[in-house]
Amino acid sequence: MFPALMLTQEGKATHAALAQIDAAQLPPGDVTVRVQYSTLNYKDALAITGRAPVVRSFPMVPGIDLAGVVEQSDDPAFAPGDAVLLNGWGVGETHWGGLAGRARVRAAWLQPVPRGLTPRLCMALGTAGYTAMLCVRRLEALGLAPGSGPVLVTGANGGVGATAVALLARRGYEVVASTGRADAHERLLSLGASRIVDRAELGSPGKPLQKETWAGVVDSVGSHTLANACAGTRYGGAVAACGLAQGMDLPATVAPFILRGVTLAGVDSVYAPMPQRRAAWDDLAASLPAEAIEAMAQEIPLADAIGMAEPLLAGQLPHGRLLVRVQEA
Ligand code: NDP
Repeated sequence: MFPALMLTQEGKATHAALAQIDAAQLPPGDVTVRVQYSTLNYKDALAITGRAPVVRSFPMVPGIDLAGVVEQSDDPAFAPGDAVLLNGWGVGETHWGGLAGRARVRAAWLQPVPRGLTPRLCMALGTAGYTAMLCVRRLEALGLAPGSGPVLVTGANGGVGATAVALLARRGYEVVASTGRADAHERLLSLGASRIVDRAELGSPGKPLQKETWAGVVDSVGSHTLANACAGTRYGGAVAACGLAQGMDLPATVAPFILRGVTLAGVDSVYAPMPQRRAAWDDLAASLPAEAIEAMAQEIPLADAIGMAEPLLAGQLPHGRLLVRVQEA
């Protein structure tokens, strides 16, 4: 038997509880992973609270990412004892996820823990950290380089945002962090932001074209914030959009795109092709020392995950990341 966070549906309400289950209950798959760490992502908090229709079938074990050790494998690509990592692929949404002692998944969804990282460090970064790296690499593929000009990071104290701030600063970019948290300024400056803007400046309706300020943007917020970020991006600049913390809407005009050649680049971590994932994770391993990764996350036991979902959605957590210890390595 092993512990599993289990979501069930009663009427339209989602019920979350910590259960004890056994391997026979796990869904089909070709690799069984002994999960050591998972994380509590924004999407997991939505799933646990039922605040958005993240979960497609019940009962469901949430947890869109996991890291641990292969226990059993029917696929020659993986052998018992291999340290592995999984982000997305619908895990925690349509297939039982990482917030349980074991996960049975498809081999094609797994990747080896990159050299230089451990399962714990991978999940301290989690899907948020990996998405931040996808955003940074996407902007660079579109021509952004240190020296291009200021790069705006919105939702900067969140998991995606804080990692993006740290990654961009370590690559030599001038980073401007947008946050609504006055108590996060010191943290963001220590991660490498050169200045802070209050998120209220970006969060309300703005002009279609604004002063050309940003060479690039990593946006995890959406809505007016994303519209204003595009409107304030310099000629030829690029905006990587990955999130909707403010809203799913995009109340923008085409002006920045047709008059300034701005690129709005969507970033998805869930179904990103494996070569892109491996490159992003290898880049993360090479970019951030273990101490910097450790400092990003607060560790909690599996039993505390349910209680943290509401504070996470309310933006009340001191840290951007919640690393969930499922069992000791
Ligand atoms: P977090 O909850 O850690 O951070 C979200 C941050 O957004 C908050 O810390 C806050 O930043 C900011 N924020 C929250 N509410 C508002 C608001 N009403 N207006 C403006 N800013 C707000 O989440 P993550 O960083 O893990 O994820 C961020 C977003 O990215 C989510 O929408 C998530 O679903 C999405 N995401 C998408 C992925 C993809 O594959 N495309 C993968 C991972 C995440 P601050 O406190 O600094 O103001």
